[in-house]
Amino acid sequence: PAEPAPKPGFLARLTGRSVAPTEVRRELDDDLLESLEELLIASDMGVDTALRVTANIAEGRFGKKVSTREIKELLAGEVARVMEPVARPMPLYPSKPQVVLVVGVNGSGKTTTIGKLASQFRGAGKKVVIAAGDTFRAAAVEQLQVWGERAGVPVLTAPEGSDPASLAFDAMTRAEADGADLLMIDTAGRLQNRQDLMEELAKIVRVIRKKDPDAPHNTLLVLDATTGQNAINQVQTFQKLADVSGLVMTKLDGTAKGGILLSLADKFGLPIHAIGVGEQIDDLAPFDPEEFAAALTG
Ligand code: GDP
Repeated sequence: PAEPAPKPGFLARLTGRSVAPTEVRRELDDDLLESLEELLIASDMGVDTALRVTANIAEGRFGKKVSTREIKELLAGEVARVMEPVARPMPLYPSKPQVVLVVGVNGSGKTTTIGKLASQFRGAGKKVVIAAGDTFRAAAVEQLQVWGERAGVPVLTAPEGSDPASLAFDAMTRAEADGADLLMIDTAGRLQNRQDLMEELAKIVRVIRKKDPDAPHNTLLVLDATTGQNAINQVQTFQKLADVSGLVMTKLDGTAKGGILLSLADKFGLPIHAIGVGEQIDDLAPFDPEEFAAALTG
């Protein structure tokens, strides 16, 4: 079969033309607003956010003539405005070691993200230790060891099925002894048994607080952009399981349009520390609201 035709750009879809004439002016009426809403919802923005964004665009302009270029600029402005406050790198604190607890469902990209972050921090001159806290998944531990090697960072493991909290405690001891700046702790992502997972995470937090009452300094929730609106449920769930302090959105290099990030920003206001843009070690980027707005509306 023939390759599917490339999708027309946002403006072309909005105007129903193959090449959007950017200077054509048309009335900002209900029809136009509705098409705009539909396009935004189709990009995973979520209904509430899409309605709010279009309402802001319509304000003071309803019934007036606007060009498609103006709509695009207004939209990009709205998007950047919503995203600006959440575009924050992971905060670093002076205490040593800083503990970064990494949570998320299996397959979201936790292991990969830990490897990428470890590599970045190491590149910035930080001493990093990783703890393979998903002790029930042998494959996860192996994967993390591979990433540790790539990043040049030691990965502490424990026998399969052993208590992750005890590994976390040993990892704290080791990180302290080594004078490490950062300890990144991977965790299990079995949402099938939430009660177990909640207790497991709570116990990890309890034991590392015996060493440092301020730990974990960051609790990162890793989300997969391709799961779309499902990410909302994941944030809600993990907020009940752990004290989530920031997000990393992975797989934004794929077909996912990332409108879900707007939904999340609007709903939770959690900082977005980084985005995953591929499977390689350097494929982790800071979240840039302007670039994101341009990509979403382009
Ligand atoms: P975990 O189960 O949460 O630890 O997930 P993994 O880190 O093992 O990642 C699951 C899959 O997603 C792997 O095949 C990764 O290569 C892939 N992956 C992770 N992050 C990204 C990303 O930013 N972009 C792409 N394209 N793939 C990713």
